[in-house]
Amino acid sequence: MKILNPWNGATIADVATDGARSVAAKYRAARAAQPRWAAMPIRKRIETIARFRERIVALEETLARTLTHEVGKPIRQSRNELKGLLARLDFFLAESTRALRDEKVLVDHAGRLEERISHEPLGVVANISAWNYPYFVGSNVFVPALVAGNAVLYKPSEYATLTGLHIAELLHESGVPADVFVPVIGGGEAGAALLRQPVDGVFFTGSYATGAKIAAIAGRRMIKVQLELGGKDPVYVCEDVDVKATAAAVADGAFYNTGQSCCSVERIYVHRSIHRAFVGAFVAEVKGYRAGDPMDEATYVGAITRRPQIDVLKRQVADARKKGASILLGGKPIAGKGNRFEPTVAVDVDHTMALMRDESFGPIIGIQAVGGDDEAVALMNDTEYGLTAAVYTHDERRAKKILAQVNAGSVYWNCCDRVSPRLPWSGVKHSGIGLTLSTYGIQAFTRPKAWHLRGA
Ligand code: NAD
Repeated sequence: MKILNPWNGATIADVATDGARSVAAKYRAARAAQPRWAAMPIRKRIETIARFRERIVALEETLARTLTHEVGKPIRQSRNELKGLLARLDFFLAESTRALRDEKVLVDHAGRLEERISHEPLGVVANISAWNYPYFVGSNVFVPALVAGNAVLYKPSEYATLTGLHIAELLHESGVPADVFVPVIGGGEAGAALLRQPVDGVFFTGSYATGAKIAAIAGRRMIKVQLELGGKDPVYVCEDVDVKATAAAVADGAFYNTGQSCCSVERIYVHRSIHRAFVGAFVAEVKGYRAGDPMDEATYVGAITRRPQIDVLKRQVADARKKGASILLGGKPIAGKGNRFEPTVAVDVDHTMALMRDESFGPIIGIQAVGGDDEAVALMNDTEYGLTAAVYTHDERRAKKILAQVNAGSVYWNCCDRVSPRLPWSGVKHSGIGLTLSTYGIQAFTRPKAWHLRGA
């Protein structure tokens, strides 16, 4: 498989991929190795993750450059991802022992009865991952899965293969056996071959379309399935905000990572009374973003990682134009060899347009005027997705009232495009099922076993 730099189309590596036979062999080796890994004291498994953290710190710049070369993420944002990874690792290092220890839920001395819950590893799990934040979405799964005593067959996205191989190498150097964390290399076929193995759980991050296929396969097997899928995340800007500061914050939420975040701001509703001022400040902010070579320190908008996405963006712009939208900025690919698209801002948009309904996953955004909170809430909920939603206002009570009515896994007041390791990360509707992060996201890789113990 050729690994291409999405910014300039250059081939940066040629890697061997897994076929059905090698995937089956990797599965068998992981199955054989898992019991010994699970039998180790948790402290030992946690120590391997602490060493992995040290390796990440030591190699940060090399890892950031690889990520930028293969994904097209601006170099500063690659470094940010690695810094963010450290915070996640710190959370898992601090919380795993507590989250996974046995819980006594009843001690009845008179009846000589004890009830207890233990957290058993699932066994061998498949982790099929996305490319847009490979360190984040990967570590959310494989770190707690390993700490809980599972073996992990890890299929990085074909667009983040070199990063996936770095992760495997660093984990192995840190003491995780090669048969306990096993990279499976390739595209959709390699993922499909992995799913043909009798794994005990499937943890997937990617699009709704692929997630639905995976759910159908796993559903028949009665194994644990978690799906972290896409979003069409809304922001509502009330009339009482500081317009300039809010426009800057929301623009960052829409364009950071070149708009290729699962929780990117994908649609904006602004109270009609400040709409014109907000749009002016927003466009001025986006005009200041430097779109360019991701290796350049000044670049803020980098490459579109997957070439087919350029057509999705072009179609969304054309559809919006046809239905009456005005494109105030951008609207077309940037000339050059690689996958590039201008930062694009559309107004006079509505929900008949694909731009306001389908995940864009690129540097384009629609801004719609609304008459008040009820209309905003109705529009925010008018979606197949439900990953995150945000409201900007000075009024805390108003914010909480609005956010209580919004159907999404995460809600934000005066912030957006944000993930915390301490909070569960989940979606509703087509944004997925299950969760990662928080103590629930540590226990997610275990099966609670119920112990009823009566003394003789
Ligand atoms: P994708 O669905 O194209 O691919 C995801 C993974 O699935 C890749 O590793 C791919 O090789 C594999 N795959 C493809 N077909 C398969 C099959 N038939 N069987 C098994 N595996 C198969 O998604 P992507 O382009 O890598 O990621 C972008 C999407 O991921 C966006 O929709 C984004 O919103 C979403 N995402 C969600 C989260 C979240 O936390 N909710 C985080 C990051 C990305």
